[in-house]
Amino acid sequence: MQEINLIREFPGYDIKQNQALSTYTNTRVGGPADWIFWPRNLDELSEVTRYARNQALPITVLGNASNLIITNQGLRGLVIFLTRLTEVSVNENTVTAAAGAAIIDTAQVACEHDLAGLEWAAGIPGSVGGAVYMNAGAYGGQVDDCLLEAVVLTPEGALKTYSKQALDFGYRHSAVQGTGEIIVSATFQLVPDAKVNIAERMEDFNDRRASKQPLEYPSCGSVFKRPEGYFAGKLIMDAGLQGFQVGGAQVSTKHAGFIVNKGQATGSDYVAVIKHVQAVVHEQFQVDLEPEVRILGE
Ligand SMILES: Cc1cc2nc3c(=O)[nH]c(=O)nc-3n(C[C@H](O)[C@H](O)[C@H](O)COP(=O)(O)OP(=O)(O)OC[C@H]3O[C@@H](n4cnc5c(N)ncnc54)[C@H](O)[C@@H]3O)c2cc1C
Repeated sequence: MQEINLIREFPGYDIKQNQALSTYTNTRVGGPADWIFWPRNLDELSEVTRYARNQALPITVLGNASNLIITNQGLRGLVIFLTRLTEVSVNENTVTAAAGAAIIDTAQVACEHDLAGLEWAAGIPGSVGGAVYMNAGAYGGQVDDCLLEAVVLTPEGALKTYSKQALDFGYRHSAVQGTGEIIVSATFQLVPDAKVNIAERMEDFNDRRASKQPLEYPSCGSVFKRPEGYFAGKLIMDAGLQGFQVGGAQVSTKHAGFIVNKGQATGSDYVAVIKHVQAVVHEQFQVDLEPEVRILGE
């Protein structure tokens, strides 16, 4: 069998071989990917994914890589970053954004057009695709509240539109998870309001975020889901785990729900801190903490 060589197969496409993923993740950790591809449009995305599937090459689709930890072994097969697909357009009270657009920029465009409903997203460093996939949310708002529909590329290569209902949103859950479908765009249904009011709410959320979260260090945001009846951060704090560190990964001293990269952290350091926190919290409070972040790689 001929060896797969995506660079030779797709000349002129932005494809790199054997690159460290730590360069691209928000935590700044992660081993190498066999192949990384940044599609510039849907045609490129369809063409390369079709080829990869025919070659049985595993595919991992990422947005801003702000909600994941990639292990030291990295990812086999093809990693696709959608961050070049960034178009955002406004039509009456709806805003449609390509999956790679930053959700922060999308909220900003909505604000500039006097459209309210995305303020909660003003400080979330993810892409629109990642936000829909995770049903991201903050400060009482989430994707579920304002999404009208999302378009996905199915593993069979067809474009399919999901209504909000069909996406079956739950807490950090959407129906796309585990299907192999790639979210390519999302449309948000918003409501008119004066941009000065919208901007004020966004600023307030961002001020609150900056005062509570360790934004000065690389991280992946809140590591654990909120266990029913508790707050993950409070349990971790009460367990005395703030400052606990393995290698360069440390339970933040500013916000116990975050694990920050203090310098040279690796994916293994992160995984070790997560396991320790889970064990200690279980031992002390009999509560199981489930990671909200995705841990990818072997
Ligand atoms: C400082 C900080 C603060 C944060 N605050 C919040 C917060 O307040 N609320 C919150 O909900 N989250 C928060 N997060 C987490 C994160 O930003 C969100 O979950 C965000 O929505 C993830 O988007 P992303 O593009 O970075 O996704 P990625 O991390 O790239 O991917 C996350 C998952 O989604 C999948 N995915 C991504 N894009 C697609 C796509 N187009 N199609 C199919 N699958 C896809 C990936 O395969 C992966 O499994 C925070 C993170 C940081 C670092």
